[in-house]
Amino acid sequence: MSTAEDAGIENVYKERKKTTAMEFRDLKKQYQEHQKEIDDAVKAVIQDAHYISGPQVAQLEERLAAYAGVKHCITCANGTDALQLALMAWEIGPGDAVFVPDFTFFSSGEVVPLMGAEPVFVDIDADTYNISLESLERAIEYVVHHTDLTPRVIVAVDLFGQPAEYKKIRGIADRYHLLILEDAAQSFGSRIGEQRACSFGDISTTSFFPAKPLGCYGDGGAVFTDNDAWADRLRSLHVHGKGGDKYDNIRIGLNSRLDTLQAAVLLAKMDFLEEELDRCDQIAAEYTKRLAGVVKTPVIQQGIRCAWAQYTICVKDKEERERLMAALKEAGIPTAVYYKKPMHLQQAFAGRLVEAVPCTQTEDICERCVSLPIHPYLEEEQIAAVCERVLSLWK
Ligand SMILES: *Cc1c(COP(=O)(O)O)cnc(C)c1O
Repeated sequence: MSTAEDAGIENVYKERKKTTAMEFRDLKKQYQEHQKEIDDAVKAVIQDAHYISGPQVAQLEERLAAYAGVKHCITCANGTDALQLALMAWEIGPGDAVFVPDFTFFSSGEVVPLMGAEPVFVDIDADTYNISLESLERAIEYVVHHTDLTPRVIVAVDLFGQPAEYKKIRGIADRYHLLILEDAAQSFGSRIGEQRACSFGDISTTSFFPAKPLGCYGDGGAVFTDNDAWADRLRSLHVHGKGGDKYDNIRIGLNSRLDTLQAAVLLAKMDFLEEELDRCDQIAAEYTKRLAGVVKTPVIQQGIRCAWAQYTICVKDKEERERLMAALKEAGIPTAVYYKKPMHLQQAFAGRLVEAVPCTQTEDICERCVSLPIHPYLEEEQIAAVCERVLSLWK
């Protein structure tokens, strides 16, 4: 066979692979679609050689703050540091209780003992998977009456891209004089009515981990607040507790900056973020239309635009989930379980937990939930393939 023919056959295979291979979150496809803008942005940083705290960082902070509708944005090295910086700015430490949903990524709770404070895990709402208001209130009451801890902060996580119930959370926070830390790592770009995520907390944080709704090409994060004094403290804390400059150190801080390269990538991606979010909304609606009634589809509250970090369904039990995941895997469809283990069962917290409330909803959902592929570049045929394979298990 001639090499030309070989190449021809190779191309057929490549072409076929391109249309069948499904990614859980297709970052390669996103890059292909927007290669020119991203390449130009990255190249400009490399040529300018202002790799740390280059002008793109301040530009991005301004743009993110305006987008979220918040006065201050301080970028940092990742979403976990962002959470820690918020607790540092509030001087949370030994003797303090911080309320955290039991169903979330480890970071949301990890930063609490890191500051010497006590995490108190709270159960979730069975429909939205966000923090349960009844469970929260009971957990606070427990801490007030049965421990000598001081309740200080509610960490509200916008799980899978849906903002938590901030109006009601604010009511509880006011009643008990608590601060709200919005963990919007999964919800950048989401809204309640016209108000965007990263504006609901006294301090709010997000992550630019590549697979998040707004992702960079490495680690990245940001902290948002309307409070001038906290913003000043955050700006100091994330650069070695600097005073007038980096070599004048007035407090103990971190080295937690966003690279200029990552800021440039994010500036380029901000240009098409809204489009991407709209597309994810369409895909989610398509999934829900086809799957509702067969599996438990996501429940998005009235007036919310979800950022669809995940499209998570629930089935009857663990065995059914295993069957579903195996069948999809066989069909070349990736799935993932967020999250398999409640926070209160993580070994890292063993022996130190204030078990204020039972977290039975979380325990139940951890056994039954599974997330399907969702990203703005998922094609109609791929959506159809996922739905058909799921539905075929109930025929
Ligand atoms: C991803 C994530 C984080 C942490 O972000 P990193 O940038 O990976 O440190 C925190 N909270 C939640 C809910 C997340 O999903």
